[in-house]
Order: sequence, then structure tokens, then C-alpha cells
Amino acid sequence: RFITFEGGEGSGKSTQAGILANRLSRAGRPVFATREPGGSPAAEEIREALLSGQVRQFGPLAEAILFSVARADHIDYAIKDALQQGRWVVCDRFIDSTRAIQGVTAGVPRGLISALERLTVGAVSPDITFILDLPAEDGGGRGAGARRGAEPDRFEGQELMLHERVRRAFLDIAEEEPGRCVVVDASQPEAMVAEDVWEAVLHRLNP
Ligand code: C5P
Repeated sequence: RFITFEGGEGSGKSTQAGILANRLSRAGRPVFATREPGGSPAAEEIREALLSGQVRQFGPLAEAILFSVARADHIDYAIKDALQQGRWVVCDRFIDSTRAIQGVTAGVPRGLISALERLTVGAVSPDITFILDLPAEDGGGRGAGARRGAEPDRFEGQELMLHERVRRAFLDIAEEEPGRCVVVDASQPEAMVAEDVWEAVLHRLNP
């Protein structure tokens, strides 16, 4: 079983992935909890290069390719083994982050993103993807969360717009693939989000 969590910054996906992993463990299911970018030694190094800010910023296509390289390694050296061992893999971010972030906000053409996906992911597809949906004013973007109520300045305005575009991109994916994706209202209290997630897992995967 393969479950992924997606959503914008501040949507609580890491927290929810952790809660679900614990819950599955308590239900006696062997779990492999992991995250992207990263999750295998080489992919963690790529994460460092992409996110540390110490390296020159990559262009959008290079960035999409690097995320995909990290993903391919993560699949080959961690996810596949865990699935073969019969473990439940719970992953914080996966293909949809690349589709939404590099594909939509960084403007990498969809055909290229799909080609990268075919190359790197192949048949390893999540059984369920939770899209944690949060309106911008409820948290997205550091500035927006910190100064709720105040008129966003120009920079914060841009962040809000970006958050909305990423959000829209995730919702579009959910509409395109209703069999895989479950949209959860992430503006609810944490425990209620966790309940929605658990209900969907019970309903769809019968742990
Ligand atoms: O989920 P987390 O906050 O650890 O993600 C780290 C960063 O990597 C985030 O800023 C996210 O926007 C970025 N990211 C990205 N493209 C991906 C996956 C993550 O730009 N495909």
C-alpha cells in the first residue's frame, strides 16, 4: 500500500502523514514513513542541494529534473523495497508536488513533466493521495499567516497569488484523478483532518 500527502506550505501534511503512520502502526501494520525530496541517502543529498540555499538556484527545468532524479533514487532504494516487504508506505509529497510546483508555478510544460514521470516513477503509483486543501488566508505563505487581517503588501500579495495557483493546481489534479486523490479540508482542527484521513483509508484500503 502506498499513500502520499500533498498540499501547500502550512497545510499540515507532514503532521498528518506522521499521525497516519502512527495509527497504522498501532493497528499492527508495518509502516515505512518517508518524505520528498529525500527519503534515500542520495536523494537526501539532492534535497540539500535544492533547498539549502547554498547552491546557485537551478532553472525550472533543471529543478524539475533534479526532483525527478531524487524521486527515482527514492523509489529504487527505499519505496520499492518497502512495498515488496508488504509495508505501508506513507510519503510526505510525491509526484503531485512536481506537477503542481514545477509544472504550474515554475512553468515547466506539462508534456515534459509527464515524460519525467514516466521515466522515473513508472508503475509505482500511490493508492491514495491526500490533498490537504487550505485557502491562502488560512496559512499559506509565511507573510499571510503572520499578519492575518492586515492588507497584504506587494510581496505578500505575490505570495498569496502563488499559494492560490499551487492550491488550484493540486485541486485540478484531484479532479482529474478522483480514483486516487482525496481532498481534505485542512482548515479544520488537526484531529478532524486526521479523522477524515483515517476514514478514507478505512473506506478505500481496509487496513
Ligand atoms: O515539504 P517540505 O516543506 O519539506 O518541502 C520542501 C520544499 O521543497 C518546499 O518549499 C517545497 O515547495 C519544495 N518542493 C518543490 N518541488 C517539489 C517538492 C518540494 O519545490 N517537487
